[in-house]
Amino acid sequence: MDKFDVCIAGAGVIGLAVAFQLSESTRFKTKKIVVTEPEANFGHHISSRNSEVVHAGIYYPTGSLKAKLCVRGKQLLYEHCRRYDVPFHMVGKFIVAQKVNAHRLATLQGQAAKNGVSDLVWINDNRLKTEEPAIKADYALFSPSTGILDSHSFMQSLLYTAENNGVMFAPYTQIKAVARSTAGFMLDTCITDGKSEQRYIFQAEHFINCAGLDAHHLAKNIDGLSPTHIPSVHMCKGDYFNYSGPSPFNHLVYPIPEQNTQGLGVHSTMDMMGNVRFGPDSEYVDQLSYFVDPRKAKAFAQDIADYFPEISSKKLQPAYAGIRPKLAAEGEPPADFIIQHNDVHGIPGLVQLFGIDSPGLTASLAIGEEIAMALP
Ligand SMILES: Cc1cc2nc3c(=O)[nH]c(=O)nc-3n(C[C@H](O)[C@H](O)[C@H](O)COP(=O)(O)OP(=O)(O)OC[C@H]3O[C@@H](n4cnc5c(N)ncnc54)[C@H](O)[C@@H]3O)c2cc1C
Repeated sequence: MDKFDVCIAGAGVIGLAVAFQLSESTRFKTKKIVVTEPEANFGHHISSRNSEVVHAGIYYPTGSLKAKLCVRGKQLLYEHCRRYDVPFHMVGKFIVAQKVNAHRLATLQGQAAKNGVSDLVWINDNRLKTEEPAIKADYALFSPSTGILDSHSFMQSLLYTAENNGVMFAPYTQIKAVARSTAGFMLDTCITDGKSEQRYIFQAEHFINCAGLDAHHLAKNIDGLSPTHIPSVHMCKGDYFNYSGPSPFNHLVYPIPEQNTQGLGVHSTMDMMGNVRFGPDSEYVDQLSYFVDPRKAKAFAQDIADYFPEISSKKLQPAYAGIRPKLAAEGEPPADFIIQHNDVHGIPGLVQLFGIDSPGLTASLAIGEEIAMALP
């Protein structure tokens, strides 16, 4: 039977970043590591359906994993992009508000400073008019370290480097069940390309569950894991619309996040070619579907008009949707990432990640770094 030192379930950005960081660390450089993925290739799910924004670390409660790993992850991510020629642009972002909400900008600036993000700058309406003439707002905060990146190239660079370091990538391979053995874990997998199926069982000393939207389902099939350590996960869909026509903005533009909602508000972001898109909204769903209803364009235009009055729903075309794995149910306050080790669930060698929604892309290398340091 094949034996590995580490098995990572899931080749989204989190599984790939964990594989990359392990393969770069002195302690794991010579170890046998495998990344298994049911799809034909990496990054098919949450990791290719997001805003591709490198977040600064402004919004998250001080001391939370989101705050800590976003700030550290941002630094590691920009360094990685420079080192491996991953396209990125530290374009900067405006968070805009009308007079009535100015105090909430001040609160955000205070929160950011507590998280170690001290580069936010107040912008008055005159300067805003010069920088972003299409925006209607009384005040703004400018975050110079917020940026965008080509997330596909980023994931490709993680996998390519990890493979060069000896990591094995196993596409078409879904972990079905995880049994315990004296050597760690017995991984029962199904290898299928849709035409034929094959069962394959192997051993690993460490098992890292990075299965994104399926992490809690997979956890239910881990022998000996108490259900009390498996959180409920809720799917929260976010739709995007492309803006047709030349970009009206020079930076990313975000409204003040609505209180107690699960997203940052319908904002404008851009891809590496400068094409503008708006989104994501937040809608709790029961079924996994990536359909974007074109009729939503009107509601999007209404939200966007608060800060960009010239918007017309006719300029918005359905683009794509992503699904967030939320630990908070609808109406509940946002929850932190969960990264569970032996001290929580009592199973040596098992690491589980739940609720890795935004800013997971930004935080990915810091999550990988933390896991590489924590594994015995
Ligand atoms: C709408 C939206 C916008 C976002 N915007 C941003 C942003 O701008 N900036 C930012 O930093 N973050 C953002 N995020 C968050 C970020 O995209 C996620 O945190 C990140 O992509 C999660 O990656 P993942 O690897 O956990 O999940 P995934 O990419 O879904 O990867 C999980 C993988 O596990 C595989 N898998 C499932 N079951 C099994 C199994 N049994 N065995 C083996 N493999 C399995 C799946 O096939 C999948 O490939 C956004 C998220 C959403 C939804």
